[in-house]
Amino acid sequence: MIRVAVNGYNVIGRRVADAVTLQPDMKLVGVAKVKPDYKARSAIEKGYRVFAADEKGRKAFQEAGIGFAGLSRDLVSEADIVVDATPEDVGSQNKLMYVSLGKKAIFQGGEEHEIAGTSFVAQCNFDEAIGKRYVRVVSCNTTALCRVLHSIDQRFGITKANVVIARRAADPDESSKGPIDSVVLDPVSIPSHHGPDVNTVLPGFPVISMAMKIPTTHMHLHSLIVSVKGDYSTNDVIDKLSKTPRIMFVESKRDGIKSTGNVMDLAREMGRPRNDLYEAVIWRDSIKVIGKEVYLFMAVHQEAIVTPENIDAIRAVMKTKGGSESIRMTNSALKIAG
Ligand code: NAD
Repeated sequence: MIRVAVNGYNVIGRRVADAVTLQPDMKLVGVAKVKPDYKARSAIEKGYRVFAADEKGRKAFQEAGIGFAGLSRDLVSEADIVVDATPEDVGSQNKLMYVSLGKKAIFQGGEEHEIAGTSFVAQCNFDEAIGKRYVRVVSCNTTALCRVLHSIDQRFGITKANVVIARRAADPDESSKGPIDSVVLDPVSIPSHHGPDVNTVLPGFPVISMAMKIPTTHMHLHSLIVSVKGDYSTNDVIDKLSKTPRIMFVESKRDGIKSTGNVMDLAREMGRPRNDLYEAVIWRDSIKVIGKEVYLFMAVHQEAIVTPENIDAIRAVMKTKGGSESIRMTNSALKIAG
């Protein structure tokens, strides 16, 4: 059993912790939290050992009367590997602790590529991460783009990819964030960081991205225009993407799914925990080949999509399974089809 610590227990950390408990080859040692809030109480109710992030947290946990198992340093010491799910730039500070304790670590997309030197999307570059001490799972948008572009490139050969991303402004529990009535160019300059980030995993073709924030909390929406080398049909692309792991099709005409709201509602109907969609969600009837360009719309559940990648990154770093075997195990545990 791989002993896994999760440092940072909110949007990503909570999902990774739950996913670890579902794997037949992993054991969750515990989770580290800053505040003794309802999420700490619910973790304890689930049977997780909760550790305080630091001395200040120790005092807060004691005052709140919430039992905790020690400090994050104690948690990391007990583990074979730590998944760092703390906010952007905190992971790089935490790395000092992981290095001093001689522990392997998985970082998230809010950190720079250089924190690990290996940026990871399981179905694209699992082998590159095998046996590494540190790996960075790329962001939600980059993960979805990598899955789709890697698949298209494998079969059709990409010369250039353009993407416009309408980003959810905040996660559902971030009630103090906006905008509430505006579309914010994020950033105004081109490209946004997403295209270059895809190139940390797939360096073979240019990806030019533009991004804006829209006043929703539940999903990102991507509009892709991908230039390919040969002459292919719309059906060729549908066929290839339908056989690609961790991509899910929805349809507007057949199923009446025309919005990200409909997609999230579908996830509820599927009975997924927290409505989580681990797959990149493509509108099948948006896929269109015109000349040598592939067009499509894709939705990304930002809170959930990197969960399976974190699990696969653990196995890659620990050198316990090959890529296909790990992806199969993770998909089976999380009930991801295909
Ligand atoms: P979050 O802010 O929701 O959760 C981070 C948690 O870590 C918070 O509870 C915070 O209190 C805690 N924390 C802060 N400092 C800590 C420390 N020193 N030790 C332990 N805990 C600490 O962040 P998130 O949205 O889960 O994002 C985590 C990482 O995942 C970031 O790099 C982010 O860019 C990336 N990511 C986020 C999303 C998303 O949509 N939220 C998607 C993909 C990747």
